[in-house]
Order: sequence, then structure tokens, then C-alpha cells
Amino acid sequence: MNRTICPCGSGLVYLNCCQPYHQNAQPAPTAEALMRSRYAAFVVQDADYLYETTHKSTRKNVTKEGYLSSAQNTTWLKLEIIFAAVDVVEFKAYYLGRSLDTEVLHERSNFKKEEGKWFYVDGKFY
Ligand SMILES: [Zn+2]
Repeated sequence: MNRTICPCGSGLVYLNCCQPYHQNAQPAPTAEALMRSRYAAFVVQDADYLYETTHKSTRKNVTKEGYLSSAQNTTWLKLEIIFAAVDVVEFKAYYLGRSLDTEVLHERSNFKKEEGKWFYVDGKFY
């Protein structure tokens, strides 16, 4: 995995892209970087990272188990960033549907920075 292309779509190898964030070696520097790393965390099934990068104001709505089962039960295909501002990222995440067709999750997510770290707060779905 380390030397394969990162699932977030950056074109970089995982080792030089989202892995340092997943391993808490360094925090994602921007909301977009955090969003990409969270998408990659779904692909590599890192539920701890998904839970820990959810903002405390909305963390009560999620569980590590929920993130893990979501990650295990979804085949993510591709991430496309539609729009990114300082604390908002709109994206389309493509995944394999039940009938093996490509389906899309279209979300506009809100992020918040606290103590030097970005967190996912919530999102609006289209
Ligand atoms: Zn990445």
C-alpha cells in the first residue's frame, strides 16, 4: 500500500500523501487535504482516523464501528473535488452500487480548524 498511488486521487504515492496524516505524523494542512485523507481513510478502512477527525460537536453522531462497517461495505472508486474554500469542500465520491453500477455521493462538507488541526463537522448532501 505504502508505495501505491494514494486513493485520494492526488497522483502521489500513499507514503507521500495521506499516510502521514493517517499515522498522525502530521496534521492535514488544509480542509481539502483533510477531506482527501478522510476519503482515503475509507478506502484503507482506517476507522480510528475517521472518528478522530470528526469534530467534537458532531462526533456523537458517529462511531468507530459505524465508520468501519461503512468502509468495509463500500467499494470506493474515485474522488472528485468540485470546489474547495478555506473551510468548505464540495466533492463527488464514486462507489460501486449494489447492482455493480457506479453511484455517486455528492456532498458539500464543512470543516473547522482547532488547535492546528482540521476537523470534519458536517455535510449537505445533493
Ligand atoms: Zn492522498
